[in-house]
Amino acid sequence: MISGKSSSSARLSGGLSSRFEASIELAYKVKSYRFDLDKQKFRYRVEPKKDELLSSWIVRVALVHLTDPATFVNLYLPAWRNILWTRDIDIAADNTLLDALAMKSGIEHRELYNHTIRAYEGYLSETINPKTRNPFVQSLKSRGRVKLGYGIRFCPKCLQKDAEPYFRRKWRLSFSTACVTHNCFLLDRCPYCGTPVTLCRSFLGKVFPVCSRCRLDFRTANSEDVDQGSYGLEAIRRLYEILDTGMFRFVNRYAYSFLFFRVLRQFVRITKFQGYIRGLLNHEVLTESIDFTVKKRRKNIIDYIPIREQYLVFSGLMKLFENYPQNFLSFCSLNHLRFTDLCRDIALLPFWYAEVVDRLNRGGKKINIKEVRNAIAYLSKKQGWTCKEHVSKIMGVYLDYGKTKGLRELFYSGGSGRLPGQMELDTLILCPDEKVIY
Ligand SMILES: [Zn+2]
Ligand SMILES: [Zn+2]
Repeated sequence: MISGKSSSSARLSGGLSSRFEASIELAYKVKSYRFDLDKQKFRYRVEPKKDELLSSWIVRVALVHLTDPATFVNLYLPAWRNILWTRDIDIAADNTLLDALAMKSGIEHRELYNHTIRAYEGYLSETINPKTRNPFVQSLKSRGRVKLGYGIRFCPKCLQKDAEPYFRRKWRLSFSTACVTHNCFLLDRCPYCGTPVTLCRSFLGKVFPVCSRCRLDFRTANSEDVDQGSYGLEAIRRLYEILDTGMFRFVNRYAYSFLFFRVLRQFVRITKFQGYIRGLLNHEVLTESIDFTVKKRRKNIIDYIPIREQYLVFSGLMKLFENYPQNFLSFCSLNHLRFTDLCRDIALLPFWYAEVVDRLNRGGKKINIKEVRNAIAYLSKKQGWTCKEHVSKIMGVYLDYGKTKGLRELFYSGGSGRLPGQMELDTLILCPDEKVIY
């Protein structure tokens, strides 16, 4: 019996220890497996949808792997551990991250890049910078992983229609104020509790997207229809077309879209922030129901404008650029806009714009030599060079060496006053943009 007891206790202890060893071995396996994930590919391949935002795709990939997006990134992409979701990853995704995602997902780097906001570089603006605010891109205002800015918009009807709901890249843009498929306004926050959308927290189990705070399923949210006959929807369609084709087309001529958007940005300031709005919204039926207030600001930050007012701004502005330059010129003369208002802060004037604004308010202004000196200093600092023609354009006056004493010396002082590249620019071209327009 004793021996039996001892043998059974030995068996018991042997069993325990072997189970213990086995569990340790398993733990190591799990541990090494977990830590190996950074070298492994994703288990399931999830194709990005048409025009899907990169961050929306990463969240969907994580949820298919039954993992919280934050944990998923920590396991599979440890180099971005606790960092990735604190950034605006649709702008900040660099080549290293895209390479890693491409390796793990089996989807090409180039395709993933096309799902970032960075891919709008050269179309929406010359550069897209992850460190600053980018014109026409709604900012997220990250505080840790939580987003405080109303930078992610959505159409509940589009989400409802999707077999797998996802967020569109275009919904991040300031002029995406309504859905051109469903003719309804987009939402930029939870309609129930008002919380901005934080994609990496917008899930409940496998359900995506829901409000990160009250868990409202965004597919069930209501969005208001846009009144029939409103021009704003047509304006959005035209803006999408310019962005997608990279070209602004007018009277059988073409201009690069990023130059068009640069001028458009100037007009957001002139109208919404400086108050030149006479005749701007005469065509728009929604002026009755949406309050359009002018808020004077020094900076031209489109993000600050509430979504419905943005709808009106772009409806008005696209009407101005319809039938260019007739509507544009009538608006400028109705609002007594001067050359300086139209060109201030545009370092490189597109030719198609310069040739039209040139017709407005030229001459008749007395030249102040101090003002010229300031303009030279400003332009030289801003772009590293300047020339007489460019200074003329910015000031809205024709600079004639023969008529103003001391003017020639400012441009050709023969010594320290000589501007870099002066001779070449004076004789070659008015503005560098001319080279690229035709
Ligand atoms: Zn829609
Ligand atoms: Zn909510």
